[in-house]
Amino acid sequence: MAASLPPSRPRIPGSGLAKGLAVTLRTMTRKTVTEQYPDVQPDLPPRTRGVIGLFEENCTVCMLCARECPDWCIYIDSHKETIPAATPGGRERSRNVLDRFAIDFSLCMYCGICIEVCPFDALFWSPEFEYAETDIRELTHERDKLREWMWTVPAPPALDPGAEEPKELATARKAAEKLAAQRQAETADTPGAAGTAEPGGAGTGGVAGTGGAAGTGGAAAAARTTAAPSTPAPGTEPHADEQARAAEGPTRPMGDSKQQTDQPKLDKQQPDQPKPGQEGRE
Ligand code: SF4
Ligand code: SF4
Repeated sequence: MAASLPPSRPRIPGSGLAKGLAVTLRTMTRKTVTEQYPDVQPDLPPRTRGVIGLFEENCTVCMLCARECPDWCIYIDSHKETIPAATPGGRERSRNVLDRFAIDFSLCMYCGICIEVCPFDALFWSPEFEYAETDIRELTHERDKLREWMWTVPAPPALDPGAEEPKELATARKAAEKLAAQRQAETADTPGAAGTAEPGGAGTGGVAGTGGAAGTGGAAAAARTTAAPSTPAPGTEPHADEQARAAEGPTRPMGDSKQQTDQPKLDKQQPDQPKPGQEGRE
């Protein structure tokens, strides 16, 4: 016995047309999602994985990226170079020199492992994606092409306001401050800037800035520039050279202590000179 079919609803004439018009109206009021590429470039997020850029100067040919790549699509060739010892009697060193660095983007699966494992920040993601080729062999990008992608890598996001200042910025800032102090000292040493004497008056210093309670005149300021900097007039401010040296003293890098260690020791250099307290015994 055949199963009975459910009773069909009576069709209202024109209902199909009304449905179609309703869909059209709904779509017309929605925001369009169609991208008019390539006439209009897509607005990609900054962390888009488009292509990998190589910053060659940072690469030490440690081969970590090539070893960790799951697709084995990174090709690195290198040779060793011997660097002579920096000091007499020192040890020679050897370093790896990069000969070839290539990534085959026809095999790459854009996992980003190579970028994550690179210990020297030599690999970066670039959002560029327009490098399709008609020949698959052209998708192996050699080091020159990988370097070109570097210039399309976006700048890193800004640090948190309370974050520690990066070492590179701190070094650059200290160098700029030191240079500014040196320039200030040079300006103070020039005769025109050191101050001009006012005939018969108490005098006001120029950049050197004497005067005040001590009442030293311009002539005194000029004399002080020619005098030994370690003997300033009582009551006057220290010389600008001293200020500059005092400013850079605490920030002097440890490597500069070589100057002090290179100073000849008095006892070894002048053994014939009598020690204090021994004069007149002979
Ligand atoms: S993104 Fe992944 S697959 Fe591509 S080169 Fe790097 S490690 Fe290999
Ligand atoms: S991991 Fe980094 S430093 Fe090491 S070979 Fe790869 S790119 Fe160069």
